[in-house]
Amino acid sequence: MDLKYVQTTCPYCGTGCSFNLVVKDGKVVGTQPYKRSPVNEGKVCPKGTYAHEFVNSPDRLTKPLIKKDGKFVEATWDEAYDLIAQKFKSYKPDEIACLSSARVSNEENYLLMKLARGVFKTRHIDHCARLCHASTVAGLAASFGSGAMTNSILDIAESKCVFVIGSNTFEQHPLIGRKIVQAKLNGAKVIVFDPRYTPTAKQADLYASFYSGTDVAVLNCLMGEIIRNGWEDKEWVSKRAKGYEELKATVLKDDYLPENVEKISGIAAADLKTAAEWIGTAESSALLYSMGITQHTVGVDNVKSTANLQMLTGNIGRRGGGVNALRGQNNVQGACDMGALPVVFTGYQKVIDEAVHKKFADAWGFPDGICEPKNGYEVTVMFNVLTDNPGELKAMYIMGENPMLSDPDLTHAEHALEQLEFLVVQDIFLTETAQHADVVLPASCYAEKEGTQTSTERRVQMWRKAQDPPGEAKVDWQILSEVGAAMGYADQFPYQSAEEIFNEMASLTPSYHGMNYERLNRPEALHWPCPSEDHPGTPILHIGKCSHPDGMGVMHPIEWKPPAEVPDAEYPYILTTGRCLWHWHTGSMTRRSETLDNEVPTGWIEINTEDAQALGIADKEMVRATSRRGTVDVPAKVTDEIKKGVMFMPFHFKECAANVLTNNALDPIAKIPEFKACAVKVEKITEE
Ligand code: SF4
Repeated sequence: MDLKYVQTTCPYCGTGCSFNLVVKDGKVVGTQPYKRSPVNEGKVCPKGTYAHEFVNSPDRLTKPLIKKDGKFVEATWDEAYDLIAQKFKSYKPDEIACLSSARVSNEENYLLMKLARGVFKTRHIDHCARLCHASTVAGLAASFGSGAMTNSILDIAESKCVFVIGSNTFEQHPLIGRKIVQAKLNGAKVIVFDPRYTPTAKQADLYASFYSGTDVAVLNCLMGEIIRNGWEDKEWVSKRAKGYEELKATVLKDDYLPENVEKISGIAAADLKTAAEWIGTAESSALLYSMGITQHTVGVDNVKSTANLQMLTGNIGRRGGGVNALRGQNNVQGACDMGALPVVFTGYQKVIDEAVHKKFADAWGFPDGICEPKNGYEVTVMFNVLTDNPGELKAMYIMGENPMLSDPDLTHAEHALEQLEFLVVQDIFLTETAQHADVVLPASCYAEKEGTQTSTERRVQMWRKAQDPPGEAKVDWQILSEVGAAMGYADQFPYQSAEEIFNEMASLTPSYHGMNYERLNRPEALHWPCPSEDHPGTPILHIGKCSHPDGMGVMHPIEWKPPAEVPDAEYPYILTTGRCLWHWHTGSMTRRSETLDNEVPTGWIEINTEDAQALGIADKEMVRATSRRGTVDVPAKVTDEIKKGVMFMPFHFKECAANVLTNNALDPIAKIPEFKACAVKVEKITEE
C-alpha cells in the first residue's frame, strides 16, 4: 500500500485553511491536520474535514461532452476543441462573454482572462465576485484606494472590540470565528448586529436583530453618537482623512438619532448607544462584514459607511482594527486580483488606461492585438443584455461557475442562457448550468493540480497535486492553453507548468512582483502587496497612509435608502438569503459529500414563531413561498431566532432554490444584485 500526505489549501471558504490530503494508492481518501499554518493551526471546520469526499465522486465528469439533438454524447478532446474553435472564430469579439471562477487557481483565472482578451478579443469577462463582493472592491477602493480586506485574520484576535455586521462568521468563515473567540478571551467586547440570532450572534456581548437593508442608517447613527460624545480619533481624521465635515453634517442629522434609527432598523436606541460607546472608546476596534453588507442595491454605500466608521475611529492602518471584508469563496480575492473583471487587468490595472493596455498587449504578443481598451459587461449586465437585447451576445465560455443556481431570479437567468447560440462549460460536475451547454469540458479539482489561491486576507497560498484527474479530465490551465492553441495561438500559451503561468502573471502585476513559488512554499506564505523579492508582504494595509495617490482616506457622506423592494400588503415579509455551515454555494461539491449532505439534506425557510402562528404554519411543514418572480415549496423552520417580519432561506438547494425568489435589482455602481432583501409571501400548502 502506498500512503502519503499532501499539504494543500481548503477549496471552500476564503479563510484559506491548510490541511493534509491523505492519499492511498494514488487516490485521495481523507484529510488530516496540518499544524504549521498560522491561519488555522491544524483546526478545520466540517467542510474542511470532509473536503476529500467529493473528489472521487462517481458524478465526476471524465470525458468531453457535445450536445447533439438535445442530448449529450461523449466526444474526444480534439472534437470538442475543433467545435469550440470553429464556433468562437465565427463570432465578433463583442458577441462573446466569459465567466471565470472563484474556485480555480490564480494561474487559471489569469489564463482565462488572457484567453478572453487576447484570443477571443472580447472585453466581456467577469465572475461571481459580482454576486458577492463587487461592492467591496468598489467601495473600499473609493475610500482607501485599495478594494481589499485591510487587516489580517490573525490580527482580529488582537482587537479590543469586534463589531460584526452582515456576517455569520461562525458558520461561513468558522476559523475566522475562532479569532473572534480569541479576541474575546483577550478581553475584547463583541458586538453582532444581524436579522438572525446566528451562532455568531450567540457569542456576542451585545447582540441586536435588525431589518435587512437598514445598514447605512445604523452606521450613520453609530457615527453620530461617536461625534456627539467626542470619541472620534481627531488626529487620524485631521491628518489622514478627506471629507470629514460633509460626513459629520450627514450623520448628525436628526434622522440618524438613535431614537429615529430604532424605528428604521428595529435596534433599540439604548443598544445603538452602547455599541457606539464600545466602538468609539476601544483601544482598537475591528469591523467584520460579509454579504449582509454587500448584497444590496446600496451595497457600495454600505461598504463606504463601514469605511467611514473605521476612519472616524482611527481604526485604519492600526493593529486590531480595519475593515475586514470577509470574502466568500476560496479564491474570489485571487480571481479579482487576476483581472477576471470587466474593467481591469491583473492587480486592478485599468483596461481603459492606454499604457496598461499596451503593457499587456506587448507582453502577450498576439500578432493581431488584444481586446479594445474599453470596459466590458458585468455578469449581471450580460444576463440582462441576453434577455433585453437578443442577439447582442451570442456565445459564452463559463469555467467553474453555476449561475443557474447562484444568480438572482433564476427564471430570468435560465431565459438568458437559452438565448445563447453557443455555450461552453468547463467544470468537474454536470451542474445545473452545464446541462444548458453545447460543449462540456471535464476539468480538475483542487486536489489534482498545483497552483495558488489568494484568501480573503490577501494571503497567497499553494495548492499541491495529490492525485490525477479522473478519466480523461484535464487540469484547467491545460484546457485553456489547448483552447488557445486550437484557436491558432499556440505560441501565446506555451506553458508546461502552473509555475510558468504564475511567473508571467507576477511580472505584469506590481502587487505580486515579489512572489514566486519558492517564497510561497512555506506555511505563512505571503500577503500582497509584495512588490519585490526582498519585501516581506503586507498583512495590514494603509499603515501611515492610504493607497490613494495622495495617501489620504476619503470619507463619503451617505444617506440611507430603503431596499428596491419593501414589504407591502401582497408580499408582507422581507426575505434574506445566505449559507449554512454544512454546505457551500450551489452545493455542487458539498452535496456530493456524503457526510455533509447527510447532516443537512435539503433547504428550509426560517419563519419567526409569531409570524408562523399568524399564518397557521407548523415547524417542518411544507410551505409555499412566493415573490414577484416565482414560487418555491420549502420546509418551514419555525424559530424565535429570526426577527419578526423577516424570513431566511439558504441558497444551496436546487429542489427549493431560494434564488427563484430573489430580486435582480442592481447596485448602480457595483452591479451587484439585492440578494439580501426582497418581498415575499408565505402560505400553507392546501390540497387541491
Ligand atoms: Fe475550509 Fe473555510 Fe472551513 Fe477553513 S473555515 S476549513 S477554509 S471552509
